Amino acid sequence: MSVTVVGSVNEDVLVAVGRLPGRGETVVGREAVLAPGGKGANQAAAAGRLAGPGVAMVGRVGDDPAAERQRAALVDAGVDTALVLATPGHPTGSATIPVEDGSGENLIVVVPGANAALTPEDVDVPAVRRAAVVLLQLEVPLATVQAAADAASGTVVLTPAPPQPLPPELLQRVTVLVPNEHELVQLAGADPAPRTPAELAALARTLGAAASVVTLGARGALVVPEDGPVLLQEPPPVEAVDTTGAGDCFCGALGAALARGADLAGAVREAVAAAALSTTGPGARGALPDAAAVADALP
Ligand code: ADP
Repeated sequence: MSVTVVGSVNEDVLVAVGRLPGRGETVVGREAVLAPGGKGANQAAAAGRLAGPGVAMVGRVGDDPAAERQRAALVDAGVDTALVLATPGHPTGSATIPVEDGSGENLIVVVPGANAALTPEDVDVPAVRRAAVVLLQLEVPLATVQAAADAASGTVVLTPAPPQPLPPELLQRVTVLVPNEHELVQLAGADPAPRTPAELAALARTLGAAASVVTLGARGALVVPEDGPVLLQEPPPVEAVDTTGAGDCFCGALGAALARGADLAGAVREAVAAAALSTTGPGARGALPDAAAVADALP
């Protein structure tokens, strides 16, 4: 079994503030905490925790102390980092996130840094060509995402985030598109009205990927196969404390299950359980479950 993630590696700087600053305003934060991040690396860490050997990350970090911290966080999750390349002259990507006490509301400033230097050549490698499943997102250049999708011979899973218009030649290469509800509506150019599962499935089928899985937060996920009936998979009951990165955990778990040979509905059943468990701890990687925990929590 093998899962290769091509995408971003970031260091998040979480700053606790009493109140978010307004334009031109200075507020004093209480503390700043470094946390591992980047959609790509979060997905790899989730898959690594679940599947262990056979999960590899392809990406770029800088030549700074953050690079070592982020490599170490991936290794700790069981991810092969041989293809997390050092990029002289670039900082490791970062996201600075003031989080308001009480409301939990935040602002996010992302500096792509080395992620922007990941090239199509970097991803035309055996780890991508031969992986059972390749996981992609949109925090590295689109030409690189396209090159990875073109090089892949296995299942290609794309998280269309942050959302941007997707060329048909990319969607043609995608086996499973995994937008959240907000991303789906934006990609389809629809207005953000409440929709039934049947309406969401109809929107997803306009996008051009073979199959889709639409994640619906606490309501679970909607499986929209190429043909055949749509299925709403509800998550197991959990006490959610922080949903940051739930979608990334979902995709990592989906990839690990598909690589093991699960069908799409079975993989989504595991992914909703894993993502629900991931919301029970802080940050994007504070509560990534292992396979035994997911097996216990299956809905
Ligand atoms: P994103 O993190 O990209 O915004 P969602 O909010 O749709 O995506 O969450 C992704 C998945 O995480 C959901 O499909 C669900 O399985 C799980 N999840 C998210 N929030 C909760 C919650 N409050 N309770 C249980 N599961 C959740």
